[in-house]
Amino acid sequence: MDCLFCKIVAGEIPSTKVYEDEHVLAFHDINPIAPVHVLMIPKKHIASLLEIQPEDKELIGHLHLSLQKVAETMEVKDPGFRIVTNIGKHGQQTVFHLHYHLIGGRQLNWTM
Ligand code: 5GP
Ligand code: ZN
Repeated sequence: MDCLFCKIVAGEIPSTKVYEDEHVLAFHDINPIAPVHVLMIPKKHIASLLEIQPEDKELIGHLHLSLQKVAETMEVKDPGFRIVTNIGKHGQQTVFHLHYHLIGGRQLNWTM
């Protein structure tokens, strides 16, 4: 499948991993917008949040718990951080494999 993040999961494209288990992978964004900018993905190919199926419930719950672990590892829990998932054209999604941006390490603002 011609999917950038599936290639990262397969090790065909290198990434700097911060967390990995059987079902999920977290790695540094190649173009960080903050001191901490990590991408968390399910290893299973799901195109976006809109494509999550009822059978993925456990996986998505596991992914969220894994985000807690990464927040702890990256030491952003106390000052706080942001989780973002972009969807489609208006959401400016560029990689069509579900991913959560974990962004922190500086004061964020809220602009559209
Ligand atoms: P989106 O715009 O789809 O929400 O986010 C895609 C993210 O993937 C962007 O923040 C972009 O910097 C990141 N990205 C694109 N290509 C690569 C890559 O080859 N490696 C890594 N680590 N991140 C990438
Ligand atoms: Zn994929």
